[in-house]
Amino acid sequence: MTVRLSTVRTLDPEMPKSTENDHSRRPRVVILGGGFAGVGAAMKLKDADADVVLVDKHNYHTFQPLLYQCASGLLEPIAVGHALRDLVHGQDNATIHQATITAVDLDAREVRFSDMEPLTYDYLVFGLGAEVNFFGTDGAAEHAFPMYTLPDAMRLRTHILERWEAADRDPELVDDGALNIVVVGGGATGIESAGALAELYRANFAKDYPNVSQDQARVILVEAGPTLFPMFKEDIREYTEKALAKRTVEVMVGEAVASISPTRVTLKSGTVIPAHTLVWGAGLQGNQLVQALGIELVRGNRIAVGPELTVQDHPEMYAVGDIAAITDAKTKTVLPQLGSVALQSGEHAGETIARRLAGKEAKPFKYHDKGTMATIGRGAAVMQTMRGRTMKGRTAQVAWGTVHLALLPTNEDRAKAVVDWAGAGLTHQRAGRITVETDEGRDMAGAGTKAPKARR
Ligand SMILES: Cc1cc2nc3c(=O)[nH]c(=O)nc-3n(C[C@H](O)[C@H](O)[C@H](O)COP(=O)(O)OP(=O)(O)OC[C@H]3O[C@@H](n4cnc5c(N)ncnc54)[C@H](O)[C@@H]3O)c2cc1C
Repeated sequence: MTVRLSTVRTLDPEMPKSTENDHSRRPRVVILGGGFAGVGAAMKLKDADADVVLVDKHNYHTFQPLLYQCASGLLEPIAVGHALRDLVHGQDNATIHQATITAVDLDAREVRFSDMEPLTYDYLVFGLGAEVNFFGTDGAAEHAFPMYTLPDAMRLRTHILERWEAADRDPELVDDGALNIVVVGGGATGIESAGALAELYRANFAKDYPNVSQDQARVILVEAGPTLFPMFKEDIREYTEKALAKRTVEVMVGEAVASISPTRVTLKSGTVIPAHTLVWGAGLQGNQLVQALGIELVRGNRIAVGPELTVQDHPEMYAVGDIAAITDAKTKTVLPQLGSVALQSGEHAGETIARRLAGKEAKPFKYHDKGTMATIGRGAAVMQTMRGRTMKGRTAQVAWGTVHLALLPTNEDRAKAVVDWAGAGLTHQRAGRITVETDEGRDMAGAGTKAPKARR
């Protein structure tokens, strides 16, 4: 790895001892994770007198809010993943490594990897995000399709296309429920996925496969709680139910999934749904690596942080984004796991480290609420602010577009997203309806992901 050499300056009273004793290099800030939080931190350290090293197991930044659009063929992977190295072009103090983090030794201030030599740090930005939580559901790890990474989205897309092609060749598969999709989770991920997949079925597959009856291609949304979108107000919930019904999504609330097999979904009530596809959008937990850190964790495997986003007894460690439990200064509630929270908290960590390196005081984090929002389908979105203001329909879709454009990492990405969305809005086309096999059984369009195992 590249480490630039310069004389170290101990401007911060809390500067780690390792750096004070090592006059051969300037302070090193190691950023774990290239999501919204990690990238936000790296960018704010652009002018800092430090070596900034960002590590992610992927060599791209994933724009998670658009994953379901990728899974349903509306967007290509390059619209959802952006090369991390591209994002630090022109940032002379930054280095990117693609490596898998296996452990962090907080006492030794060292990060360990499966495929790279360990790295010591003076400041650590911990932004490893969240991962799927199957809550121990029988068969979920083997047969469910989660929706949290780009490989997840591509796997699902390829699997659905393969099911339709197979059903087109063999009508018995249709009778066996090959085209039914069960989506688990009545929160944003489940609702957005169900809406997008239903539009893919009714708008595109209805024309692609005219011999297959759409009545035998159901999209069923299952939620264990009594209502969809429990975090939203009643008017939003009613609107969502109508918008899903309009798109022919069947909603089952108060029903939990008991087990999943390759071709059947069994609910706790005993109902068995024939379905060869189950999309899991029901639960998140903080990255498993946090469990070995020896620090306080709160519900959902998240790291509790103080007002400056540092971890108790570790002023050199910032936890940001989905992995952090950040208490909002105004409402005193823990902020939700959202892109805008991740970006703002990452940026705050980067800015604060830069201030500390320059001998300035740290400031507490203040979250600027952009609202919680979701898109159910074309022209149908919902939005609610922390103060309870709500928006629905096209107005909310415009708000969604504005907020999400701001989250995209570059102006080039924003321009591309506007073109893609406008094109999709005008033509109803979902161009990503092809599977590209190579000799290695990989889907070329799938960012190098393995093709899914056959479910029958
Ligand atoms: C399907 C879906 C839809 C969403 N829709 C919205 C939305 O509409 N609006 C909104 O505001 N938010 C939305 N969110 C939430 C939002 O995307 C997250 O809050 C945000 O991405 C969190 O950013 P982060 O940087 O904390 O973590 P992440 O974006 O998860 O980034 C973590 C990074 O760490 C890397 N990593 C993890 N483990 C390791 C390891 N061991 N070694 C190396 N690297 C590792 C990962 O590769 C990843 O790049 C959605 C999330 C999902 C899953």
